[in-house]
Amino acid sequence: MALVVQKFGGTSVADAERIRTVADYIGRTVRHGHQVVVAVSAMGKETDELLHLASQVSSTHPGREMDMLITAGERKAMALLCMALHDIGIASDSFTGSQAGIITDIDHTRAKILEIRPERIRKALDAGRVPVVGGSQGVSVDRDVTFLGRGGTDTTAVALAQALGADACEIYTDVSGVFSADPRVVPDARRLKRVSFEEMLEMNAAGCPKPAMRSVEFARNHGVRLHVRSAFTWEPGTWITEEEPSMEQALVSAVVSDTSEAKLTVTGVPDKPGIAARMFRALADRSINVDMIEQNVSVAGTTDISFTVPREDLTATHAVVESLRPEIGATGLTADPDIATVSIIGAGMKTQPGVTATMFETLAAEGINIEMISTSAIRLTCVIRRDVSEQAVAALHRAFQLEGAS
Ligand code: ASP
Ligand code: MG
Repeated sequence: MALVVQKFGGTSVADAERIRTVADYIGRTVRHGHQVVVAVSAMGKETDELLHLASQVSSTHPGREMDMLITAGERKAMALLCMALHDIGIASDSFTGSQAGIITDIDHTRAKILEIRPERIRKALDAGRVPVVGGSQGVSVDRDVTFLGRGGTDTTAVALAQALGADACEIYTDVSGVFSADPRVVPDARRLKRVSFEEMLEMNAAGCPKPAMRSVEFARNHGVRLHVRSAFTWEPGTWITEEEPSMEQALVSAVVSDTSEAKLTVTGVPDKPGIAARMFRALADRSINVDMIEQNVSVAGTTDISFTVPREDLTATHAVVESLRPEIGATGLTADPDIATVSIIGAGMKTQPGVTATMFETLAAEGINIEMISTSAIRLTCVIRRDVSEQAVAALHRAFQLEGAS
């Protein structure tokens, strides 16, 4: 007998029929002799709809009320799922985040879990019942209802798995695992049988949205084994686990692209201490999150600095740097919204030379110009034109021979 936490995302429970299908699946797991704790998301696009409603009645979006509103989505889903479980003879109880003992800080709309006191969940399990917990929510140390942020149900599931000492945390979603590239771009992308936490986190940072990065970090920090799989085909998916020494490390596991960033270049920047610090402090003060940064060698005492930011922050970033330009004595500033990043990720590249050369040659053969480069021990990222990002992903996927069935 194993104890598993099963997380079901919004598409998995999008309508009544889906809810009954999920209930059936949970029922089968229970009948196989396992203990199950469920974390469920709001149905379909419900969270978006609630956010839209809020924006129609308010321009200020008070955090406390936003959280009260948004968490209603998960509350609805958990009650319906429990009813469907009762219907097939599975005893179950729904719990809000608060009832489940998920204690958070007071940072509304993106609260962080501080502690879990899962007594009621344990009691329900001991009584042979299936606890169904509303995802992405908790209760703050001020006793207000809090929302953990978009995608927070993954975090709820992982945190419950850790608190209960579960054998695994299964993330059921609308994709059947983690792939060597986005299957919409590369049809013969391969489902990975397993990836390490490190690789997954690099993939998240490079633009792979699922599973939510925060939950992967939590799982890594607490040693929770994650299994990402489909709530539509129910087939085995991708395990995200600690890297084992015996594991054969793929040179490159995946190609990921991100089209959500923009690039700025400041030219003729005096090459002396404190200039970059001044500029990036001003951006940090506006909560602008800078990603890649590149500085040229200086010629005649000046240099150029390029960096990327989320495209939605491009206008604000431009304004901040432009206002500083006279003071720091830079001669020019250009903003470029039409970039993409393309990254290759693989634990094996740590020790293998030649990966960089292959990546650059592949892009060159496609006639794709590299505008910026950044690296980590297990990731290589290039900034390129946005309109060729899919071409780059497909070419790199071919060059590193990632296609084929797993
Ligand atoms: N329903 C929430 C959202 O869409 C939480 C979640 O799905 O994880 O962000
Ligand atoms: Mg969701």
